[in-house]
Amino acid sequence: MNVQLRTIEADAVIAIGSNLGDRVATFEAAVRALAEADGVEVTAISTPIETVAVRPDGEDPDAPAYLNAVVLVRTSLPPRKLLGLLNDLEREHGRVRGERWGDRTLDLDIIDYAGRQSSSEDLTLPHPRAHERTFVLRPWVEVAPEAELPGRGRIADLLAELER
Ligand code: ATP
Ligand code: MG
Ligand code: MG
Repeated sequence: MNVQLRTIEADAVIAIGSNLGDRVATFEAAVRALAEADGVEVTAISTPIETVAVRPDGEDPDAPAYLNAVVLVRTSLPPRKLLGLLNDLEREHGRVRGERWGDRTLDLDIIDYAGRQSSSEDLTLPHPRAHERTFVLRPWVEVAPEAELPGRGRIADLLAELER
């Protein structure tokens, strides 16, 4: 019997953020590492945008500014494996988790994984705050103008509403 193992692939959306260190070099290294990872193919990279840091009590213009971008991938990794890879890359870039939304060298979040919805704390899909973040939606719209955020609608509409 000739059994062919078929890899099931999924489209996923990853948000990259950095507000410490050489942000451009970190972005380039992170995207390269993603592209070279087993089971991950990078299909699009947005233009990075600079944004004001957000703290739990609101925007903080005195904090180092962020660079944000969105990367589209096609992957054979299941969602938790993909998150594990992202966490490894964050660690390799010296990410230290301190206070919530504190400064960081690298944040890699899964925004969407094949339109799936899941609500466990270690992996919520889609990302629970993506719909209210222009720093996610604006770069995402650039590379996927017709995309939808599961349960929230077209991202172009969400962005237009936030920017009104
Ligand atoms: P935010 O989630 O508001 O963007 P953050 O990215 O700074 O904040 P982290 O410290 O990077 O938060 O992650 C906190 C936890 O969020 C992680 O332990 C991770 O397991 C969990 N998490 C849940 N859903 C996701 C997701 N879709 N992408 C990345 N991490 C997630
Ligand atoms: Mg984040
Ligand atoms: Mg994160």
